[in-house]
Amino acid sequence: MDGMEASGARDLNVRYRGRFAPSPTGDLHLGGASTALCAWLAARSVGGSIVLRIEDIDTPRVRPDSEKHILEDLRWLGLDWDEEPEGILHQSQRTRAYESALQQLENGGFTYPCDCSRKEISLASAPSGNEKTPIYPGSCRQLTQSRSFRRPPATRLRIPPNTFIEFEDAVFGKQSSQLSQDVGDFVLRRGDGVFAYQLAVVVDDLAQGITHVVRGADLLSSTARQIFLMRCLGTEPPSYAHAPLWVGPNGEKLAKRASGIPVRDHRNAGVDPRKLIARLAQALGLADQNEPWLTPHELIPRFSWGKITKGPIEIDPSRDSLPL
Ligand code: GLU
Repeated sequence: MDGMEASGARDLNVRYRGRFAPSPTGDLHLGGASTALCAWLAARSVGGSIVLRIEDIDTPRVRPDSEKHILEDLRWLGLDWDEEPEGILHQSQRTRAYESALQQLENGGFTYPCDCSRKEISLASAPSGNEKTPIYPGSCRQLTQSRSFRRPPATRLRIPPNTFIEFEDAVFGKQSSQLSQDVGDFVLRRGDGVFAYQLAVVVDDLAQGITHVVRGADLLSSTARQIFLMRCLGTEPPSYAHAPLWVGPNGEKLAKRASGIPVRDHRNAGVDPRKLIARLAQALGLADQNEPWLTPHELIPRFSWGKITKGPIEIDPSRDSLPL
């Protein structure tokens, strides 16, 4: 078993460096808080370190006060981070690092420019299984790089046929993906120059020396891509754990501003943060219903990935609306 299992076994010798990487595009909601709690507990339960990364690369969606509010919410919940504040990495400051990784991939022949429009791609491709975007049919793969482009080209990663990626997720177990069929040649930098999440996250996980990635289960399907990308960059990937998603009463995706759900609303309403931690811990499988107040520190000795539910966890309006 990998290092994630070792975290359950509290092997204090394991070198563990985790991260929590929120996007400052809205308030922290219960799902984000529950992922942060899992990431924090997984690190602290093995005496490891955990750092913060602000994923503010997708600039139009970034909200001005969101980072500040998320940091306040996390602190209010009782979660602390190593190397704060100087160690908090901001993706918006990392353009040079992404450029140099892209250059390394380009030099290795792993990438190619693509000037296909969205319309051309959707007309030419078969719809993909679980991805919303169609699988790119590879129209530009064989073209020469020195041709003239119809529009500023995107940069795509070349996925060789039969690229099969397998990994063990600490919560969801064995995962596998036939990348060439499931995803295809994915974009590393868009035509407008914006670096894709997949590239940024991999470059940052390497730069921050992350050994264990904990994040929401909505990103489970990105992991195979990131493992392949890490290998193209000449390194071995970290271990992965995907924390359960929180969904609305009818299973719908949580809207970031749904009423009563942002942690900040609970904080502003004077709720005791130990109540919120207890609610998260109960939903995750770390506490009984009869424990109304808990602190993150009290949960450290109880933490093991084996206890964590796969979810999804349904918001219960009678419990999760204010006041909690
Ligand atoms: N920034 C992403 C989010 O807020 C998480 C990315 C990751 O942890 O890899 O959902």
